[in-house]
Amino acid sequence: MKSYAIIGFGCAGYHAAKAIRKNDPDGKIVVYSDTSDPPFNPMLSTYYASDMLSLEGTFPFGSMDEIVKDLQLELRSETKAAHVDAARREIELADGKREPFDSILVATGASAIVPASLTENAGRYFLMRTLEDAQNLRNYIEKENVKTAVVIGASMAGIKTAEIFYRKGIPTTLIDGASGLFPLAAYPDVAEMIQEKLNDLGIKQIYDAQVAAIRPNTVELSDGRTLEADCICLCIGVHANIQLVANTKAVEGTEVKIGKGIIVDEQMQTNVPGIFAAGDCCEGKNLQTGETSVIGLWANASAQGECAGKNMAGKTAFYYGNILHNITHFMDMDFISLGDITLPGEHRCFAGKDFFVEVCMDADQLNSMNIFGQYRISGILKSHLTKRLLHGDDNLTPAQKGMLLAEGLPAELINLLGDKKS
Ligand SMILES: Cc1cc2nc3c(=O)[nH]c(=O)nc-3n(C[C@H](O)[C@H](O)[C@H](O)COP(=O)(O)OP(=O)(O)OC[C@H]3O[C@@H](n4cnc5c(N)ncnc54)[C@H](O)[C@@H]3O)c2cc1C
Repeated sequence: MKSYAIIGFGCAGYHAAKAIRKNDPDGKIVVYSDTSDPPFNPMLSTYYASDMLSLEGTFPFGSMDEIVKDLQLELRSETKAAHVDAARREIELADGKREPFDSILVATGASAIVPASLTENAGRYFLMRTLEDAQNLRNYIEKENVKTAVVIGASMAGIKTAEIFYRKGIPTTLIDGASGLFPLAAYPDVAEMIQEKLNDLGIKQIYDAQVAAIRPNTVELSDGRTLEADCICLCIGVHANIQLVANTKAVEGTEVKIGKGIIVDEQMQTNVPGIFAAGDCCEGKNLQTGETSVIGLWANASAQGECAGKNMAGKTAFYYGNILHNITHFMDMDFISLGDITLPGEHRCFAGKDFFVEVCMDADQLNSMNIFGQYRISGILKSHLTKRLLHGDDNLTPAQKGMLLAEGLPAELINLLGDKKS
């Protein structure tokens, strides 16, 4: 009987366990999780923190008891893995205990970035990544009389955290070192358009502002300005949890390759046979650059976990890669970004009835796009861009064109995107 280990039980870990069990009904699957909660959806954390969603609602795959029973898992909950000993095929746990495996998946996700320089002598501040982070903020808002808030980081997590305060009528300031909102996903003019809307909703924003320190109830900027707030949230990004394989006392030939994440091939296997990684902790292929990179998305973690699980169980599965992709709903607005906005090309803008689209075309090929105010067309457009990158097929199908037209996309844009041969 084969013995599988899964470290980390979020979206990627769950989908791997499910795929292993489907393909190997008898194998032993041991799950090591540093929490006792069932797999949690971090995308829902701000809805839970703002009391819009129940705790159960943040667990998309049900309770831990149900999952353990359905997938016949051996669960080591509240058990932190410290090191993967690739040479001896053993996991070293934080308490020093060692356990063997035949094949292993590292699915440890990512952690919020917390620079020591900002947080020394900080007083209380909040993060938004784990369930515990969401619980901490929710409890604080419930118990304390929060009258003002500052959110550091105008990213997807930052805007959703600002929304928590907005929904409660708490005046909020959003701060970022970049020159505008969503610096990795939005073109400058689209960012400006959204910034104006946020302004109209009363969200103050300060850009090009480096935070020098967080002090009790005060944020200090490097230009000397200070902002007082009852509640301070730090949302400046995440780093992949790679320590398990980074810290190798490795025997030569068994060092796992890492960059910003654990580097995997198209079968989600690392350079060391039998050691797999999936989700936010790994670097899979970025279809636009051809390089590996961390693409921290829920759908990515799910597909990568499933692919890893199948391969671990002896089947052959491939996950060829992904593109940068964001769909964010906040304060009744929808913003979608597809592709790498740093790639060069000619920008063209199109206005629909209630939405705006900007595309960046290199020759007649789509490199990236921003959509503001329309989320329903994102699936078609993402699969269109992915199809071109994977199969070189530049055409939209008649059904896709019909759906885009029905959603109000101008015919000129549809032709530009995917009517190359007509
Ligand atoms: C606020 C917010 C908003 C987001 N919005 C979006 C969005 O709109 N769209 C989108 O696609 N994605 C979004 N994401 C990202 C998405 O949630 C992640 O890409 C996805 O959850 C990654 O899943 P994962 O399984 O790789 O990692 P995780 O969900 O982080 O799971 C990893 C698990 O491993 C455990 N673990 C870590 N280290 C160890 C260890 N040493 N031993 C044992 N266990 C360990 C962790 O506790 C955790 O339970 C958002 C994330 C956040 C925080």
